[in-house]
Amino acid sequence: MATAAQFTRLPHPAPTAAADRAAVLADPGFGKCFSDHMVCIDWSEDKGWHNPVIGPRGPIALDPAASVLHYAQEIFEGLKAYRTADGGIALFRPEANAARFNASARRLAMPELPEDLFIGAIRELVAADSDWFPTVEGGSLYLRPFMIATEAFLGVRPAKEYKFLVIASPAGNYFKSGAPAVSIWISDYTRAAPGGTGAAKCGGNYAASLVPTAEAFANGHDQVLFLDAAEHKWIEELGGMNLFFVFSDGTLRTPALTGTILPGITRDSLLQLAREEGLTVQEDRYSLDQWRADAASGHLVETFACGTAAVVTPVGKVADRTSEFTIGSGGPGQLTQKLRARLVAIQRGEAPDTHGWVTRL
Ligand code: PMP
Repeated sequence: MATAAQFTRLPHPAPTAAADRAAVLADPGFGKCFSDHMVCIDWSEDKGWHNPVIGPRGPIALDPAASVLHYAQEIFEGLKAYRTADGGIALFRPEANAARFNASARRLAMPELPEDLFIGAIRELVAADSDWFPTVEGGSLYLRPFMIATEAFLGVRPAKEYKFLVIASPAGNYFKSGAPAVSIWISDYTRAAPGGTGAAKCGGNYAASLVPTAEAFANGHDQVLFLDAAEHKWIEELGGMNLFFVFSDGTLRTPALTGTILPGITRDSLLQLAREEGLTVQEDRYSLDQWRADAASGHLVETFACGTAAVVTPVGKVADRTSEFTIGSGGPGQLTQKLRARLVAIQRGEAPDTHGWVTRL
């Protein structure tokens, strides 16, 4: 069984030129530029996890019959490494990503990866690519661990061979517009049904969200909102973020983890921070009709989306085919800004880490 200490380190024959890297780091956008290295670890039934390598980033060879290409046996994670004011590097709750990765692995009939190997792989990559941190305000190095089924076999059963990889992408703002508040589109499509894979971070969930997301963009919105599959009534989550609602009496509500939404690590962190602030927090269902009515009456004062990529982002406008409504003033609300500032300060090592959430590399 591989351990973090046993990584083979392959030298990079031609790393990106410093001037080209600097240009990327000054304006990285999101998800379109990549660092020089990657981690790869193999799994087979007889050897378990073996052959951990950190080396140059590049194409991977796959047999055309590899199961991932046919039955989408794939899972992934997303987390950020931050450059701290003292010049160090910090990860935010990587063990929570490791745990969710393994929950996804169980749902997709894939082998679990020991937490120390998951975090060890990230350590190796961040160390190799430590000069890939963006220089823009709010920048970070976005890390993408993922696992694919590589066995060449066309029968429908769990594969017997896998690869775990980690790549890194310098990241600036997630939303192109950099808008202070995002606009969301309520989809007629559903993302996840009870008993399905909604709580797992598997590629298939995102493939299914592409048409509804394209529809949101075509209608001039930034993100898609999914309602529940059974009644098309209850708010679930956005294509890549969880949602929170803030009421005039100071209470906070977010949809409960019923198995059809992704258990966001940002969501969990904000729940803890809000409870510490003394806020009443409800994890409960909330209907679209009630949301619309509460926004109109002024009972609902803020709505925000949260996730690793966009951190905490206010929702300004909500629309479906026939109607549209605005949340509060349409801009960032007070509690949204306060929670965002608290979370960002912890993530970047600027506030005391009283929860043990920060791993210094
Ligand atoms: N929901 C979905 C569907 C997501 O893809 C993400 C991003 N991982 C989230 C919620 C937020 O999760 P996290 O806070 O862990 O990034």
